[in-house]
Parts: sequence; structure tokens; C-alpha cells
Amino acid sequence: MDLTGRVALVTGGSRGIGKAIVLKLARAGAKVAFVYQSSEAPALAIVEELKASGHESWALKCDVANKAACDQVVEQVVEKWGKIDILVNNAGIIRDGLLATMTIEQWQAVIDTNLTSVFNFCQAVTRPMMSARYGRIVNMSSVSADFSNPGQANYAASKAGIEGFSRCMAVELAKRNVTVNCVAPGFIETDMTVAVVNAAGETIKKAIPCKRLGQPDDIAFAVHFLVSNEASYITGQTLKVDGGLTLGG
Ligand code: NDP
Repeated sequence: MDLTGRVALVTGGSRGIGKAIVLKLARAGAKVAFVYQSSEAPALAIVEELKASGHESWALKCDVANKAACDQVVEQVVEKWGKIDILVNNAGIIRDGLLATMTIEQWQAVIDTNLTSVFNFCQAVTRPMMSARYGRIVNMSSVSADFSNPGQANYAASKAGIEGFSRCMAVELAKRNVTVNCVAPGFIETDMTVAVVNAAGETIKKAIPCKRLGQPDDIAFAVHFLVSNEASYITGQTLKVDGGLTLGG
């Protein structure tokens, strides 16, 4: 799954799952631009780490909920590297709360950051990818799209929205050799889950058939596969990477 000559754009690449994806795609040969919101020092450290091993990357600050800012990032990357072959919409947040007390701000922040961001970047890359007759898009969903926890109505809606959006986009772009798929992680150890892991990590492990929590690299492997040339006949799908969590049993 060599990505030499490819240009990738990854959102939320400064930490957690996004960082693992940036490292994976760059080490597979792609030039990788990635977006962060506020973690400037960690983002620049990733660029330095990759540079030291001869890989090219570029960290850009951008609020993925801001359409104009996303358009600008895509323009900058195309200007610098001539194209975008691969887009990974990974940035995401949680603002949990039971519906009875959820504020409109909690709702809107999650919808804007998780779902509208996917629209923002997908729309911005559509024309360049259609013209190039090549594209690989992976949008980060969650097992919460299907199997929701109380207190995550906003998050579940954003992730289910991503899956529906991606299927529609897949049909629109298939004849242009642009694939659009989702990856739905289960329980992955990152900053997003640290509080829950600290409180209930052992109980969660027992509920997972693989008997371990997922690591960011588990997701990066799946993304690497879906953005490869070899995955050209897979589109409109959601790949669950959850250690069997959603199988029950
Ligand atoms: P983290 O909280 O570890 O990292 C989130 C990343 O998104 C950071 O790079 C952050 O940037 C970036 N980000 C957040 N908001 C914005 C914004 N408005 N604009 C730009 N960048 C932003 O999350 P994870 O790595 O755990 O999650 C990554 C994705 O995977 C998310 O979409 C999440 O919903 C999904 N997921 C995660 C699961 C898990 O168990 N961890 C399970 C299922 C799905 P910065 O560092 O600058 O803040």
C-alpha cells in the first residue's frame, strides 16, 4: 500500500487517532498536510519527527467548523503540492449531556465540528478530485452512530450524519474514481476517552471480545488500507474497527 507521490490532508492530526494517521500515511510515502485547532507545539513536533526520517508534512491551524478557513486550507495545499489525492476527516469532539439538560451550544458545537466539517472539506476537495479523476476520502465515524450511549445524542447524530453523507457522496463521485468510506472506531485510548478509561477501563475491556482497548494505530491501519490504490473497488462503506465490541456476546 505504497503512497509515494500522493498528497494527503488529515484533519485533527495533532493528537490521538489523527496523529497516528498522519504518521502512517507519511511513512507510506505520502506528503501529508494536517489541520489542528490549538495544539501547535505537538503539531510542529510531528512535522519535525517526520522530517528527521525523511518524510514531508505540513501543519496548518484551522477551525474545521469554519467553511472559509477549510476552503483556504485546501487552496493552500493545492498551491503548495499541486493536488489533494487523499482526504481524511478525523477531527471530532464530544460534549456529552443527557437530552433533558443538553444546551443548544453543546448540540451545535458537536454538529459543527464533527459533521459540518466533513461537508466543508469534502466540498472543497470535490472539484480538484473530480478533475484529477482520482480521490480517496475517509470520514471518521464511530460505533456510536449505531450503538448509542445515553448522553451522546449530539455525538450519535453527528456520526450517523457522517455515514449517510458519505454514502451519498460515494454514489455521486464513483464514476470519477473517487471513493468515500467511513471508519467507525470502537473504544480507542486517546485524550477523548482518558476520563472514561480511568474510571471504568477494566469493565470496558471485559465487554470487548478482543479483551483490550483499541490503540490509535489500529485505526490508522484501516485508514491506510481504505486510502490505498488497492482499495479502489470499495466505496460507500463503513468499516468498524472495534475489537468486536458491537458484535455482542
Ligand atoms: P482527540 O480528542 O484525541 O483529538 C481530537 C483532534 O481533533 C485533535 O487533533 C484536535 O486538535 C482536533 N480538533 C478538534 N476540534 C477541532 C476543530 N474545531 N478544528 C480543528 N481541529 C479540531 O480525539 P480522538 O483521536 O480520540 O478522535 C479522533 C476522531 O475519532 C474523532 O472524530 C472521534 O469522534 C473519533 N472516534 C474516537 C473514538 C475513541 O475512542 N477515541 C471512538 C470513535 C470515534 P487540537 O489538538 O488542536 O485540539
